[in-house]
Amino acid sequence: MNVQHVAVMRPSVMNDPARDMRALSCADDYDPNSMPVDKARDVIARFLTPVSTTERVNVRAALGRVLAADVISPLNVPAHDNSAMDGYAVRYADLKGDGEVTLKVVGSSFAGAPYPEAVQRGESVRIMTGGVVPKGADTIVMQEHVRTADGKVTMGTGHKKGQNLRRAGEDLATGQIALKRGISLRPADIGLISSLGMGEVSVYRRLRVAFFSTGDELVSIGTPLGEGQIYDSNRYTIHGMLTRLGCEVLDMGVVRDDPGLLEHAFREAAASADVVITSGGVSVGEADFVKGLLDKLGEVVFWKIAMKPGRPLAYGKIGSAHFFGLPGNPVSVMVTFYQFVRDALLRLSGLDPVPATPTFKVPCTSRLKKAPGRTEFQRGILTRDASGMWSVRVTGEQGSGILRSMSEANCFIILPTDQGNVEPGTPVDVQVLEGVI
Ligand code: AMP
Ligand code: MG
Repeated sequence: MNVQHVAVMRPSVMNDPARDMRALSCADDYDPNSMPVDKARDVIARFLTPVSTTERVNVRAALGRVLAADVISPLNVPAHDNSAMDGYAVRYADLKGDGEVTLKVVGSSFAGAPYPEAVQRGESVRIMTGGVVPKGADTIVMQEHVRTADGKVTMGTGHKKGQNLRRAGEDLATGQIALKRGISLRPADIGLISSLGMGEVSVYRRLRVAFFSTGDELVSIGTPLGEGQIYDSNRYTIHGMLTRLGCEVLDMGVVRDDPGLLEHAFREAAASADVVITSGGVSVGEADFVKGLLDKLGEVVFWKIAMKPGRPLAYGKIGSAHFFGLPGNPVSVMVTFYQFVRDALLRLSGLDPVPATPTFKVPCTSRLKKAPGRTEFQRGILTRDASGMWSVRVTGEQGSGILRSMSEANCFIILPTDQGNVEPGTPVDVQVLEGVI
C-alpha cells in the first residue's frame, strides 16, 4: 500500500491510526530516511480530525477563535433605504426632463432622526448621509446640485430615478449567510457580527497542546549554567507560536533523557491534551529510547525529511493525542513547526479551509549555497527599495542552532528540491513570517 492509497481510504479505516501507520510504513515508495516535505505534510493531513466541541462566547472574546456555525443575518443591513449623500430626498416624478424645478422643503431626515411623514407632490426633505429615505421619496439629489432659498430648493435636469440611495438589505439580506463556519474571526468579522445585533457567537473549543523539551543539557531560566549546559529556548519559541495560533498551552517543562521520566511525561501529556509536541531526541541513534518508548505507547513514525534545516521529525498518535516530535536545534524547531505543525494545528482547531501562508517570488540579492536533493528553508530579510521594488537577502550564518537568524528574519527563502546554488538577482520563493506565526 502506498501513500496514495492512504489518501483514498474509507473514513472508517482512516479512524484507525494504528492500522494506517502500519500500512504507511509498508508503502512501496515510502522512504522514512528521505521523506519529501510535501509527502510528509500530505500524510499528516490524512490523520487530522478537527475538534467538534463548541462553546458560545461573547463577541469581543471571539477574536481569533474559529467560528463553529454559519452566522445567518437576522435582519436586513442596512435596515432601511437610506441616503448615500448629503442632499434632498425627492419624488422622481416631480423632476422635469427639460428644465429646473423648485420644491418645498418640508422637513429633514438625519441619521437616527427620520422624517415621520410621507413626501407629497411638490415636496422634498433635507437628508443627510445615512438618513432614512422617507415614504414617497425615491431619489436623492446631491446638495452640490441644488440652490436653496426661502425654504425651497431648486434643481436642474439629468437625474436618475433611485440615484444616491442605498437599499435595505443591500449589504446583507435577512436569512443570508454573513460569515461561514470554519473561519478564524478577525476584527472586521467581530464588527460584522455586532452590526447584526448579536452579542454572542458559537466557536470551537480551543485546541489543547502539551509540550516539553527533552535533553540532559537543558537548564530552565533562573538556574546558573553548569559545564556543558544550555538554556532551554525551544519551549519558549513553541509557547509563542502556539499562543499566536490560539491554542490552549500546557507547558510541561524540561524532561531529562531518562526512559522512565519520558514515559511518564508522554503518558501525562497524551492524557491531558489533543496534541503533544516535544523537541530534541528524535534523531534516532543518539536517543533510541524515545523511539522504543513511542513504539510501546502509540503509533509513531520517525522520518528523516528531505529538508534543511529540520531533518528528523516524528509524527503519530499516542492514544487519541497527535504527537509531533520536533528536532532539538532551535531553528529546526521553528522551521518544522512552521512547515508541518502550524497547518495541522489550525486544521485540528476547526479552520476550514486552512489559509495558505503567503508565498511569492522576489529577486534574491545574496548568493546562496544550496545542494540539490532537499528543500531548504533559508532565513531571509525582505526589504523594499526607494523605487518600491521588493527584494530579499539572506540573514547571515544559516546554522540550525543559530536562533538569531530566525529572530532577524521576516521570511523564509524556500529553495525547492532540485535547486542548486542561487546567483544574485535570481527570483526565489519567499514565505512571509509576520502575521503567520
Ligand atoms: P537533539 O536532537 O536532542 O540531539 O538536539 C540537537 C541540538 O539542539 C543539541 O545541540 C541540543 O543541545 C539542542 N537543543 C535541544 N533541545 C533544546 C532546547 N530545548 N533549547 C535549546 N537547544 C536545544
Ligand atoms: Mg537531546
